[in-house]
Amino acid sequence: MTTVLLVEDDRELRATLRDALEAAGYLVRTAASQADALAQLAHAAPDAFDLVLLDLGLPDGDGAAVLAALRRQGRRAAVVVISARHAEADKVALLDAGADDYLVKPFAIGELLARLRVALRHRGTTAQPAVTRYEDGPLAVDLATRSVQRDGAPVHLTPTEFALLARLVRSAGQVVTHRQLLADVWGAEFIGHTHYLRLYMGQLRAKLEADPAQPERLLTEPGVGYRLRADPDATVLMRS
Ligand code: CA
Repeated sequence: MTTVLLVEDDRELRATLRDALEAAGYLVRTAASQADALAQLAHAAPDAFDLVLLDLGLPDGDGAAVLAALRRQGRRAAVVVISARHAEADKVALLDAGADDYLVKPFAIGELLARLRVALRHRGTTAQPAVTRYEDGPLAVDLATRSVQRDGAPVHLTPTEFALLARLVRSAGQVVTHRQLLADVWGAEFIGHTHYLRLYMGQLRAKLEADPAQPERLLTEPGVGYRLRADPDATVLMRS
C-alpha cells in the first residue's frame, strides 16, 4: 500500500485531503506542524513513506525544513509541495532542493491526484526502469530507437532538440527547471543560458505542436521551467 505523509496545519484542508487520498487508496499519516512532521520522520523506517504532501506555511516554521530533512536522510519518498505562495523563486528553490512537484492553492483534487501519480511513478519506491516511451494524442516518442512521430509520420529533430525532448519525456508530467534542463542537455557550465532553452523550445513546438503559440504538450511554467504534459487519462507511458 502506498503510504502518504500529509503535512498540513489547516484542519479543514487536512481532513479534505485525507479523505480524498484515502478514497484514492492511499494509506495516510498526518502531521499538523513542522515539529510533528520531523518527529514522525525521525521515528519512521527509511522506506515508511512513499510520498510526502507538504504544506509550506506551518505554524512553527517552514515546510522547506521538512524537505531538507527528508533529502538529508536520503529518503526516496516523492515530495509534492502545496503552497499558497506564487513566487517563482520559491518554486525553483524547492525543486532544486529535491521536491518533485508543487501545486499552488487552491487546486482541484483531481489535479492533485494526477500529480501524485506522476511523482510516484517517477520516484518509484522500488527500482524501476526509466520511462522510454511517451504517447499523447498524435505525438509518440521512443527514446530507445530515437524516433519521434506526429500523426504517424516521422519528425526529424536535431540532436539538441531530441536531447531536450528526451529529458522532458523522462520527467513527463513533472516540471523540470531551467537549470535542470540546461545542465542535463547542454552541461553544467550552461545553466545561465536560458535563451538556449527559449530557442530550442520554440523549435520543438514548431515541429510538434499543432499551434506552437498555444502549446498543448510542451508547457511553460512561468519563471520556473517546462513541463511535458502527461494526462493520465490520455497518456500511455511505457517502460522498456
Ligand atoms: Ca498552512
